[in-house]
Amino acid sequence: MMKIEHLGIAVKSLETSDGLFERLLGTQNYKKESVEREGVTTSFYQVGESKIELVEASNPESPIAKFLDKKGEGIHHIAFGVDNIFDEIERLKKEGFIFISEEPKDGADNKLVVFLHPKSTNGVLVELCQEKP
Ligand code: ZN
Repeated sequence: MMKIEHLGIAVKSLETSDGLFERLLGTQNYKKESVEREGVTTSFYQVGESKIELVEASNPESPIAKFLDKKGEGIHHIAFGVDNIFDEIERLKKEGFIFISEEPKDGADNKLVVFLHPKSTNGVLVELCQEKP
């Protein structure tokens, strides 16, 4: 694992939360992006070497909509940046961790991403991400 690449925060409304986080962080988002396949719209802020990713549901079936129903707004996932996502998946599988899907997918912000199941990581949704070549 290289570093904490970003923290994902589930929000009801990017329109409202972008204003809040702009004031909190003293900076504008550098990117807003929809990942339709995942049912999310994301907004990214650079904070030093790490980032904050605000995540809004783009449809009622979105996993984010379900998360908001169950838990409300708040920290949704922690994302670790890795050099080689395939090596890291192999390593963590050997260590007994369970993945939501073992196949990396295109995520927001030009990344390949994969998620570990929270039941194998103390209830924390963990994302691995690798910059796309
Ligand atoms: Zn993320």
